[in-house]
Amino acid sequence: MRKTEDGYLHKGLRKQLVAQLKEKGITDESVLNAINQIPRHYFLDNAFAKIAYEDRAFPIDAEQTISQPYTVAFQSQLLKIKKGDRVLEIGTGSMYQTAILAALGAKVYTIERQKALFDKTKEFNKVFGDQFPDVFFYYGDGFEGLPEFGPFDKIIITAAAPKVPEKLWEQLKVRGMMVIPLDESESVQRMLRLTKKKDGLAKKESFEEFSFVPMLQGKSQN
Ligand code: SAH
Repeated sequence: MRKTEDGYLHKGLRKQLVAQLKEKGITDESVLNAINQIPRHYFLDNAFAKIAYEDRAFPIDAEQTISQPYTVAFQSQLLKIKKGDRVLEIGTGSMYQTAILAALGAKVYTIERQKALFDKTKEFNKVFGDQFPDVFFYYGDGFEGLPEFGPFDKIIITAAAPKVPEKLWEQLKVRGMMVIPLDESESVQRMLRLTKKKDGLAKKESFEEFSFVPMLQGKSQN
C-alpha cells in the first residue's frame, strides 16, 4: 500500500461507490461511513488507481485479490462491529478490509499466509499508524488462529473456507460471531454468520453467494 494524494476526484468517486453500495442493499451507516473514509486507491497498484472505486475485485500480489467493496461492506455489516471489539481476520491480503474494520472501531488481529503480502503490512503503520494504533499483523496459517490473543468477539474469514476451522471456533467468545464464506462448490461460497451459543454450538444464518480465493493450509514462503 502507498499513501498518495487523496483529492476531490477520489473523494467524489468514493461517494459514488457508497451510493452504489446503498443501492445494492448495504444499510449500516457506520459501514458506509467507513467506506467513505478509507482511500481504497492506497491499497491498489498505481495502474489501478483510477478504477479503485469501481465495485469489483482486483488482482494484488501473489496471485491474490483485493475483495470487491460490496463483499467487504457485506461482511463488515454482518459482523455488527462495536467500538473496542477484538476482531480476528483471516486473509490480510491488501489490508483494505483490515482498514475498514479499524475504521469501525475494532481492535484488529489479522493473519496472512503469503510472505510477500505480509511483508507489505509494514506500510500500514506508516500510513495509518496514528489513526489506527490497534491493528496487529501476523504471518501464519489462519487455520491455527491466534490462541494466545483470543478469545475474540468476532472472527472474519476473507478466503473460501472448505469447512468451519475448528481451532478458530474455539477462539470465539460465547455470543461472538464468525462471518465465513463456506464452500458450496469449487467456485461458489455461501456467506454464513455463525453465533456461538452458551453451549458452544452455532446459531447459523445463511446469506448470499460469493466467490473468494481459496483458504489454503500452511504458510507460503515467497
Ligand atoms: N481481506 C482481503 C482479501 C484478500 S483475498 C482484502 O481485503 O484484500 C484472501 C487472502 O487470504 C489472500 O491474501 C490469501 O493469501 C489469504 N489466505 C488464504 N488462506 C489463508 C490462511 N490459511 N491463512 C491466512 N491467510 C490466508
